Amino acid sequence: MGGSRIETVAVHGGERRPGPEGSVVYPIYQSTVYSVPPGTEYHDLSYIRLNSTPSQTYLYDKLAALEGTDAALATTSGMAAISTALHSVLRSGDHLLAGHCLYGGTHDFLTEHAADFGWEVTFIDPQRPDTWEARPNTKAVLVESIANPLMRVTRLREVVEFARRHGLVSLIDNTFATPVNFRPAEAGFDLVLHSATKYLNGHSDIVAGVIAGRAELVERARTTANHFGGSLDPHAGFLLARGLKTLALRVRAQNANAQALAEFLAAHPGVVEVNYPGLASHPDHAHAAELFTGFGGMLSIRLAGGEAAARALIDAVRLPFSAPSLGGVESLITRPAATSHAGMSRADREALGITDDLVRISVGVENPEDLVEDFAQALATL
Ligand SMILES: *Cc1c(COP(=O)(O)O)cnc(C)c1O
Repeated sequence: MGGSRIETVAVHGGERRPGPEGSVVYPIYQSTVYSVPPGTEYHDLSYIRLNSTPSQTYLYDKLAALEGTDAALATTSGMAAISTALHSVLRSGDHLLAGHCLYGGTHDFLTEHAADFGWEVTFIDPQRPDTWEARPNTKAVLVESIANPLMRVTRLREVVEFARRHGLVSLIDNTFATPVNFRPAEAGFDLVLHSATKYLNGHSDIVAGVIAGRAELVERARTTANHFGGSLDPHAGFLLARGLKTLALRVRAQNANAQALAEFLAAHPGVVEVNYPGLASHPDHAHAAELFTGFGGMLSIRLAGGEAAARALIDAVRLPFSAPSLGGVESLITRPAATSHAGMSRADREALGITDDLVRISVGVENPEDLVEDFAQALATL
């Protein structure tokens, strides 16, 4: 491939040149199984569940190129990527350190199922390395690059150092930052996870997940995925590869739009708090500026009028859809207490600052002036 910058990698990374039959776009191989050469091992059979068919290996090469890792794997959802990666790393009796403000689904998976598998879990404050403690049976640490919904940025360098010092596998959910803003493998993380449902695909039309990292760890995850059975269908994989080609363009536009909207909201008298790492007022701004090349497309706010105003704002905006999820080309607006974090107890939510009046916005690729004007008219109705 001719260039190594992220826009070029998004278009050309992993592409076969020439493609089959000279095709410029890699085709969808809608065949579950392939003829077997003599002596083929089970995990090397070409079968969709075994993650070894041409459409899958093409997609995995593209994902690995984007994250700058040896290898990658796709799964049927972000949660499948997270659960599969953890199952590939942890055995019964092992201990996991996990960020205390993880995505709601990950938090619920750990609180409701870890004990079934014999895993011990301790939730850690990702901002306070001095409080992290490894035990003799600690095997792994799981954090997110930017944590939903207050957009706190984990002490990522310290996580890598801590994991190395204690011989732990470091896992990071990089959904919010995307490889455009941050490539964790370059910073020393062992396994990079994504809900590809969000920015990587970017069009709110498929559910998928990604595991990327060092060859031997991804191979272990592939073996686990092959046994658990959550491999991505070639048709969804085709849509994901298509979305990846515009990833850099979309994320750059989302970074810029979120910054513009955050600055407008921060200056508005009806808004009492804006959580966006691109603002100098954000507690992790300096740290984020060191680590990331962009601050992302996600922000959250609190209004002077509290929960009632939050509900009214969601009704009054015309461009963003009122919906959870994130990372698509269209802006979305939601109250995390009622959607992404509804599975947590109220006490747990409030301890993390996820109060009923918090509004989260996934900023799309619309024109930034149109977005600002829409929020201005909506705030004027409150
Ligand atoms: C959405 C999300 C997930 C879960 O992904 P699914 O594709 O819905 O399974 C995990 N982590 C983060 C940060 C997310 O935003």
